[in-house]
Amino acid sequence: MGMTDCLFCKIVAGDVPATVVADAEEVLAFRDIDPKAPQHILVIPKRHYDTAFDMARDDPRLAGELLREAGEIAVAQEFADAGYRLLFNTGPDSGQEVMHAHLHILAGRPLGPMLTEPQE
Ligand code: 5GP
Ligand code: ZN
Repeated sequence: MGMTDCLFCKIVAGDVPATVVADAEEVLAFRDIDPKAPQHILVIPKRHYDTAFDMARDDPRLAGELLREAGEIAVAQEFADAGYRLLFNTGPDSGQEVMHAHLHILAGRPLGPMLTEPQE
């Protein structure tokens, strides 16, 4: 998938609306359209990478920026003390649907076991 038909690149460009939580130089965070928890925020690099590994391999500092931004959002949104989960889906078995690297922040309730779908 090229950048021109990437949903999250369109959100970065402002061509698709999103509820923005944080807008930094290289990183954007916005609310997930179909939240799986009371707080469900996606943190993405503004530059397109298909996966978290593509990003980390090319620019590990940028991968660190996503983690830092997620932590700052947790403090600002006041769920840092209660706790939260950070998650990168990568590839078909993970269920990754949007091929633009994104860090999920899930919070606002006890999140239960790590897996979110039933195991076979
Ligand atoms: P994935 O399954 O790829 O790890 O996660 C993609 C996430 O993007 C899903 O949680 C889905 O709800 C969210 N999503 C899909 N389309 C949109 C959209 O147009 N806007 C927003 N804000 N989130 C979206
Ligand atoms: Zn993209």
